Amino acid sequence: ASARVLQSGMRLPPMPTIRELVKLYRLQARKQLSQNFLMDERLTDKIVKSAGRIDSRDLVLEVGPGPGGITRSILRRHPQRLLLVEKDPRFGETLQLLKECASPLNIQFDIHYDDILRFNMEQHIPDTSQRIHLIGNLPFAISTRLLINWLEDLAGRRGAFRRIDTCMTLTFQQEVAERICAPVGGEQRCRLSVMSQVWTEPVMKFTIPGKAFVPKPQVDVGVVKLIPLKRPKTQLPFPLVERVVRHIFSMRQKYCRRGFGTLLPPEDREEVAQKLFQRAEVQDTMRPFELTVEQCLRLAEVYSEHLVTRPEVAAYDYRAPKNVEVL
Ligand code: SAM
Repeated sequence: ASARVLQSGMRLPPMPTIRELVKLYRLQARKQLSQNFLMDERLTDKIVKSAGRIDSRDLVLEVGPGPGGITRSILRRHPQRLLLVEKDPRFGETLQLLKECASPLNIQFDIHYDDILRFNMEQHIPDTSQRIHLIGNLPFAISTRLLINWLEDLAGRRGAFRRIDTCMTLTFQQEVAERICAPVGGEQRCRLSVMSQVWTEPVMKFTIPGKAFVPKPQVDVGVVKLIPLKRPKTQLPFPLVERVVRHIFSMRQKYCRRGFGTLLPPEDREEVAQKLFQRAEVQDTMRPFELTVEQCLRLAEVYSEHLVTRPEVAAYDYRAPKNVEVL
């Protein structure tokens, strides 16, 4: 394995390749943890490069480092602190080896064997003076859920998003990556596109062919960088926006009033929906995928205003058995 010159002029000492380590420690990929390893250094470098400039005042949190391919690429960018969150303790020896090799670089190197979905950012990153980069070749099984959790943190300026300049550079199944970035009217436009675009500008960076991973997944993988908007497009609470957008897109091919209407009890649904669409200045015969983020947010806004006079509507669930009906 080659030693690399770092920006600071320091080098990572020669180490066995990731492929050699995986073999040496018999790190068979576990399906239930969606483990697919990247062995190609050019690709791991490219992922980290997608995160933009990383300098010696920055903190990088890597999700699911596994045997440490991306981790090496991050170390070569020489952040001030590297925080790894890995659920599978079998990677203990390889990550420890990496930590020891990196010790001359003076990077604060912390490893946590934990589930990222339960990881307490405030506790582990108490100080917000460092810029934070969230990077990860995510397990497919949790990638969408993690993104939604982080968008909620961003909306509430919590966790890693107490700073508004925390960017996420993450991998998704190619199809999911396309949905996140899908423009208005696009075939892939869905709830995830709108939710991502309310609080961030998602940028599709590049595609990694499935065959670059070991073992090879069924699908290609998209690398997306999500840049938080300096001025979020709404101040409405995340759960409310999420609820409205979920309902709008629940009937993707129908007029948007159909899905939106399911937020409202059937007694006066038609009448109330019509009034709310008028107030939002949105045409109720548009299809959900034709709506801009702003139009979705105006619908969330008028729904939220409606709840002020009709608070009981917030609890209405059209799927609840007593409300079963033909829409
Ligand atoms: N970063 C490595 C690479 O690119 O070769 C491994 C990527 S592999 C697709 C996903 C990694 O995430 C695995 O190491 C897996 O153990 C880890 N992982 C799975 N679920 C996790 C969770 N909930 N929290 C933290 N890590 C998780």
